[in-house]
Parts: sequence; structure tokens; C-alpha cells
Amino acid sequence: MKDALRVPGDVVAALDRAPGRALMLGHVHPDADVLGTLLAIGEALHARGWSVLSGGPHPAPGALSFLPGVERYEVLKALNGVFDVVVLTDCPNPDRTEGLIDAAKRAAPIVVNIDHHPDNRRYGTTNWIDVGAAATGEMVYRLLSALHAPLTPSIATNLFTAVHTDTGSFRYSNVTPETFEIAAALTAAGAKPDVVSSALYERRAPDALRLLSEALGRVQVSNDGLIAWLALPGGVVPERFVESEELVNYPRSIGSVKVACLLRELGGGRVKVSLRAKGEVDVNKIAAAFGGGGHANAAGCTVSGPLDAVTRQILDAVRAALAAPR
Ligand code: 5GP
Ligand code: MN
Repeated sequence: MKDALRVPGDVVAALDRAPGRALMLGHVHPDADVLGTLLAIGEALHARGWSVLSGGPHPAPGALSFLPGVERYEVLKALNGVFDVVVLTDCPNPDRTEGLIDAAKRAAPIVVNIDHHPDNRRYGTTNWIDVGAAATGEMVYRLLSALHAPLTPSIATNLFTAVHTDTGSFRYSNVTPETFEIAAALTAAGAKPDVVSSALYERRAPDALRLLSEALGRVQVSNDGLIAWLALPGGVVPERFVESEELVNYPRSIGSVKVACLLRELGGGRVKVSLRAKGEVDVNKIAAAFGGGGHANAAGCTVSGPLDAVTRQILDAVRAALAAPR
């Protein structure tokens, strides 16, 4: 089978054996790609008789409460007992588990690292990194196919949502013919594109558009039109609102813009930076220079300092990247 052939044998072997106890370990601030893939693998293993624990350092966001099985995703501060296998998905950096990866390595002989980030640190005992996959959801679709695991409607919905969000609703340059082949197979298996789109994009709170206008009034565009940024001081809009919106998509939507930036003031003198590009600049390199990471067209970092100073530093780095020949 085509899909099965493209999954490394050691990854299949790690899961294709007598049932035991498995941990599906998520990264900080889990998004749909990590949650959808962990829930999908967890359901497939559970159906084969495994005892499955799913969780990570932070809870699943309320905006993703529609993912089937997400109510079983736990906030873990420590790990109890031993596991036969631990699976991490979409997590490039062991630091993004707040130390749980170290506990997991002590508690299990096999740690499977499945990811599509180019800067993945290969921290597992088994590592499968496919930077050509638009979402880890595509890889896990192939994995479940290699395991001959039945695609239930709930698995299909989880993987469809993972691919849907990481491709910006099938709009970004990471979309390939295979993305649509996988989306078609998941839709045939019971994922409902209209239900997923509505759950993701038509669930705003009644005050959301007023908050959006407060935030978006702060968007600035460089004189040459190439950079747009939104610097958001703490307290201007509530945290729950920022977490339910992909605010960086608004500056990105300006036609002339090549790089969009969202800079959010966090507590403790830190600023969370989100960077988006459209192919001209590798924002992963910019984020990496500030201790973060990500993909060529979507990356982030957290920088210490006042909001205006961090904004200047990031904009300088973006300008330098735009000026540099590729
Ligand atoms: P976002 O801007 O939506 O938070 O993240 C976009 C991409 O950048 C994701 O692939 C995410 O993994 C990565 N990213 C965001 N923030 C950080 C960070 O602080 N460190 C690292 N290594 N990657 C980040
Ligand atoms: Mn991803």
C-alpha cells in the first residue's frame, strides 16, 4: 500500500504490537495539529486494547472543544507509573513539554517523535520527521493506514481539523495534491468540512467583533507596504479573545505585505511574537535568532523586554531579511 510504504518501519513497529499502556504527550498551548493527531492515534490504540492517557502541560483550548475525545485530554504536571510507549506529535523541541519529556523518557522504553517542523531536535528513541507534510495530521493519516487502523468518523474529524488548520483552510503553500487526497479520504470516512469550518470560524463570542476592532485599529503598515504588524499591549483585549483569534492573519491579508507580525505583551516583561510570510522570507530563521522556531512561512518566539523595544528589534530583523538576497 502506497501510504504504508512511506511510514518508517520502526514507527509502525513501535505501535503494532501487543497492547499495553500508552501516553499521547502534547506540547505547550496545544493547537489542532497536535490535539487532532494525538486523539486520533489514541483512539486507534484504544480500539486495539491499549490503555491510553492523553495530555500535556496545558489544557486544550475552548475553541477546540468540538474535537471528538478532547474531553479526555488531561493537564499533566507529572507522570504516574510506567508506559510501554510514549508518542509526541508536532513537537519540534523537547523544551516545549515543560519537562514532561524527561519524565516520559524515564517512564517508557520507546518515545516516538512524529513531526513536520524543519528544526525538530530528534529527541525520541524513534524519530519520523517529514518536512514535506503540510500538517502532522497528514503523517498520522499515513501511519494509521500503515497500521490498518479503521478510520472512524471521530478519527477522520480529528485528522481533517489538523490538516485544515495547518494549511490555513487549504490555502497555504504547504498544500499539495496529497493534502487533498488525504482530505478526500477523511471526508469519505466521516469528517464533515462544513461542521469543522463552522466550529473553527463561526463560533465567536458576542463581544468578539468589538474586541477585534479594538485590536485591529492598532495594525501598522511599513511605508513600502511590505511589513504589517500588530503590537498589542497587555490588557487591551482579554487573553481568551487573543487565544480564540488568529490575529496575525489580518496584517497578513494585506496584498502588498510579505511579512506579518503579531507582538503580544505577556506578563513578566515578555512579548510573544508570531511571524507569517508568503514565501519571500524564511521567518523560521528570524524566530530562531530570538530563540524560537517554526516553519518557513509561520514561526514564533518569546522575547524579553518592553513591547516597543521588542517590536523595533523584530521589525529590524524582518527588514534585514527582506533586504537580503535569497
Ligand atoms: P504561532 O505564531 O501560531 O504561535 O506559531 C506558528 C509556528 O511557530 C508553529 O509552528 C509553532 O510551533 C512555532 N512557534 C511559535 N512560537 C514558538 C516558540 O516560542 N518557539 C518555537 N520553537 N516555535 C514556536
Ligand atoms: Mn503542525
